[in-house]
Amino acid sequence: MKQLLFLFLSITVFAQKPKAIVILVDGIPYDVIQKLKPKNLSQIAENGSMAPAYVGGERGGATESPTISAVGYNSMLTGVWTNKHNVWGNGIEAPNYKYPTFFKVARDQKPKLKFGIFSTWLDNRTKLLGEGLPQTNHLKMDFAYDGYELDTVNFPHRPDKRYIKEIDELVTSKATETIRLQAPDISWLYLEFTDDMGHRYGDSEPFYRSVYHADSLIGEVYKAIVEREKTTKEKWLLIVTTDHGRDAKTGKNHGGQSDRERITWICTNQPKTNERFRYGLAIVDIFPSVCQFMKINIPDTVKKELEGRSFLK
Ligand SMILES: [Zn+2]
Repeated sequence: MKQLLFLFLSITVFAQKPKAIVILVDGIPYDVIQKLKPKNLSQIAENGSMAPAYVGGERGGATESPTISAVGYNSMLTGVWTNKHNVWGNGIEAPNYKYPTFFKVARDQKPKLKFGIFSTWLDNRTKLLGEGLPQTNHLKMDFAYDGYELDTVNFPHRPDKRYIKEIDELVTSKATETIRLQAPDISWLYLEFTDDMGHRYGDSEPFYRSVYHADSLIGEVYKAIVEREKTTKEKWLLIVTTDHGRDAKTGKNHGGQSDRERITWICTNQPKTNERFRYGLAIVDIFPSVCQFMKINIPDTVKKELEGRSFLK
């Protein structure tokens, strides 16, 4: 009887379908998260885990990477630093697709998985993920909501950048709707407005307000996945992070190697993390963590180049 019960429990656990979503919210230093204690991030951290992390590779070493947006996104996507993935700035001139994104590795291993991207920056799909390119074996995202920043009719480009805030809201609503109705297996949600406010106002109320606003959008996604877990046999991994901090003097700039530009944070809904989460946590750890949760085997050729390690138990 005991064995039968064990078998039943194992099957029940096994039947839980893993799903993952990574949210990258642009340019929020760790000290700002500590200061503001945004409601939803704090709630996710309370049920799961949150810790400081770093970007920028090894300071002064071969892997040193600019604390610039697209550089950080690509380290998150590929699990390696700039000297390998070759994205040095937001121009994204010549990414080295030999270092695959976790979407590409997942597609190769499990071709039936469905992928989503919800993003306030089109290049994330077309250049970093390399959708449709021969180098990525014509990787195709199943759900893509992005490129709205190029639509100057519906989103007039006024200097206050409110249109970016509106686009963040739109892509978040597309993400939550898609999660509720279709539940993509792996998704990436990218939100930009916080960085715009940081550049414009530095450490100040308008910047802090944009962080609270991003937090409310993160809360919408969290709510959607909690609902899915209640009504389905899915088990969701949520990872929220940022791509760089900001300079200590004004908070308006980033790109250099100062502590405040390098120290970021990772928040996850998973309570069980390993020692990596407490020591040496970096943006490159997200790739192997997503793969572990999704039970995707990373090929040896990719694994031996990886700079990150899974932070999940
Ligand atoms: Zn950025």
